[in-house]
Amino acid sequence: MHTASPHSPAPADRLAAGHPAPHILLVDDEEMNRDMLSRRLAKCGYSVTTAASGRESLDALERSHVDLVLLDVQMPGMSGLQVLEAIRGAEATARLPVIMVTAKTQSDDIVVALDRGANDYVTKPVDLSVALARIRTQLARRHAELRLVESEERYALAVQGSNDGLWDWKIATDEAYFSPRCKAIMGLDDEAASMTANAWFDRVHPDDFGRLRHALDGHLAGLTPQFENEHRVRVSDQQYRWVLARGVAVRGPDRAPVRVAGSLTDITEGKVADALTGLPNRVLFLDRLSWLLEREARDPERHFAVLFLDLDRFKDVNDSLGHHAGDQLLIEAARRLDRGLRGTDPASAARPRTATASHDVLARFGGDEFAIALDDVRTATEASRVAKRLVDVMLEPFHIDGQEIFISVSIGVALSTPGCTSEDLLRDADTALYRAKSAGRCRWEIFDGKMRDQVIERVKLEADLRHAVERGQFALLYQPIVSLADRTVKGFETLLRWDHPERGRIAPIDFIKVAEDTGLIVPMGLWVVDEVCRQIREWESTGVIAEQFTVSVNLSTRQLAQADLVDRVAAIVRHHGVQPTRLEFEITESAMMANPEVARRLVGDMKMLGFRISLDDFGTGYSSLSYLQHFAVDRLKIDRSFLTDATTPDWESHGIIAAVIALARHLRADVVAEGIETSSQLARVEALGCDFGQGYYFARPMRPKPVASLLEMALPPADVA
Ligand code: C2E
Ligand code: MG
Ligand code: MG
Repeated sequence: MHTASPHSPAPADRLAAGHPAPHILLVDDEEMNRDMLSRRLAKCGYSVTTAASGRESLDALERSHVDLVLLDVQMPGMSGLQVLEAIRGAEATARLPVIMVTAKTQSDDIVVALDRGANDYVTKPVDLSVALARIRTQLARRHAELRLVESEERYALAVQGSNDGLWDWKIATDEAYFSPRCKAIMGLDDEAASMTANAWFDRVHPDDFGRLRHALDGHLAGLTPQFENEHRVRVSDQQYRWVLARGVAVRGPDRAPVRVAGSLTDITEGKVADALTGLPNRVLFLDRLSWLLEREARDPERHFAVLFLDLDRFKDVNDSLGHHAGDQLLIEAARRLDRGLRGTDPASAARPRTATASHDVLARFGGDEFAIALDDVRTATEASRVAKRLVDVMLEPFHIDGQEIFISVSIGVALSTPGCTSEDLLRDADTALYRAKSAGRCRWEIFDGKMRDQVIERVKLEADLRHAVERGQFALLYQPIVSLADRTVKGFETLLRWDHPERGRIAPIDFIKVAEDTGLIVPMGLWVVDEVCRQIREWESTGVIAEQFTVSVNLSTRQLAQADLVDRVAAIVRHHGVQPTRLEFEITESAMMANPEVARRLVGDMKMLGFRISLDDFGTGYSSLSYLQHFAVDRLKIDRSFLTDATTPDWESHGIIAAVIALARHLRADVVAEGIETSSQLARVEALGCDFGQGYYFARPMRPKPVASLLEMALPPADVA
């Protein structure tokens, strides 16, 4: 036996840079052949070991690693065919590439050799280029085979570790193999041995099948490097499981797919459970809802209710205590709701349950929203009882990060009705929730048809409001602001009215909120400024208003947030040539405090331009005194609610008015008492030292025309209280 080493550049088919040269075992009984061929192969970069007999070759195979055998068929003693048999029979060499070397005339031998597992043959005298080509091919094939085994092993290990299922589908015969884990995920009978792909496809949710087919066909057609799809498979009558299927097609020489194999992962957890609270999520909730609806269609006697829940002022907790505390609160709230739902709360009587009432679902919809499907509920009273219990379980303080937090929940309830859909129920519960919120939170409302009418009404109002500006349907009324010292009119507040073509005149309380919510308040507000300026110019030109008259204009929260408000207002005022000092802007105390920084800047900018600023509805908005110092407002307007019917003096309101006046003095602002309706109210605010009054007692908001005459009119004096 002789070994030759390569001494020329590595051949093109060397496995990879840095790998040793492929090792060839050359078996031939004729020394000349061995010598000549081994030298030439070594020259081409192979490492070559020679063997002179079959025995010798088997010894060599045992001792060292060989990548390929060149095996002479005709040898004395042990023939090449016998050596081949021995090679194939041993486990270590069963798949070792073997190329037979035969004489041209020995075609029978070739057939037998190929039959017994030879990979290829070359004929004597050996044409080196042919031999090299065949050697390269066989080495490359073997290399690919080894790589595949390795990656298959790696894949199998990974799959085992990840708890995925494995599947393999032979397309031509439609035979499918599903690993035991795969069958378990799909709820297939583990016994059933032979299967087709339909065992899987038949269980796919009808809504998901189209997408699955599309993904699979796309991959089979070679459009995607990998097949991947998430879908639901039915595991029992009522239950679907979410799976992620992944796979790769194995293709034939014509690139046509022969087989697809891959994995199946159960992703139900992540799909249907909310990660934070562990509750079912929206997806599962909707699934349960459709199941309940289907059941109601079959069995019209059985009803259920949908509850929509929203934590009140949760955002404040998140903003003030941080997201961590917010998350803790959500987890704890979920626990309490669950407890309240089960009626295991010792403080409350459990809802009488039937044996089948186990289909209640509490789900988290996202953020601070939860939803409940309450099974076997027939009447609003039954639903109310549960809703009340849920509101109650939230009343106890929460202890989060060593802090005591109070939070409440608002609930909207919709009862199922024959023929209703999931969308109907969710929408109605949401409408009822909205109602519960606007009625003051920490309460529940049961949906009724009237609510829907009101929603429709609101939608219509919104649509009408969109056209109101362009159609010129707004009008301004003016209400005098009277000096209490001499009963003369010192200015007006402008108050907006909407002259609706069908509904007649509408007061701001019925449309300002909609205008705010839709952002329409922005163009409306600019229209008001424009119209006021036009009116001021008209009054000035007819000489009816004195120099020190001011006209005030209301601004709402949304307008304060409008970045270019000051510029737009200034431009309008300039356009009309109105003195900025003529104009006063009223900002409600609560709007100011909603975003004090923005408000402070705005007030500063407005004042720089010469406008006056007053704080409207003062006393209702919890201002912080330290903030007020920085606002430099010109006027405080005491809210109407403090002017209770003064025949029986209300000492608390009395005290507040006195305090506001004292505060105004400190801020060097003047004070207007709003909503004076009676002479006794007037007398009281006057006695407390208010500077100005406004109210029906003097005059109602009026059209601009009579304003002029009012200026000369004597105003009624105050009665003696
Ligand atoms: P506000 O700014 O506090 O306006 C005073 C409200 O009190 C007016 O109601 C006025 O008509 C009413 N009022 C005046 N004197 C009396 C009285 O003696 N008794 C009673 N019961 N009420 C009296 P109005 O016109 O319905 O306006 C309501 C609110 O709508 C205003 O409250 C203001 O916040 C808002 N608003 C009115 N016009 C506009 C506007 O052009 N833009 C904006 N953004 N808001 C406006
Ligand atoms: Mg006002
Ligand atoms: Mg007011």
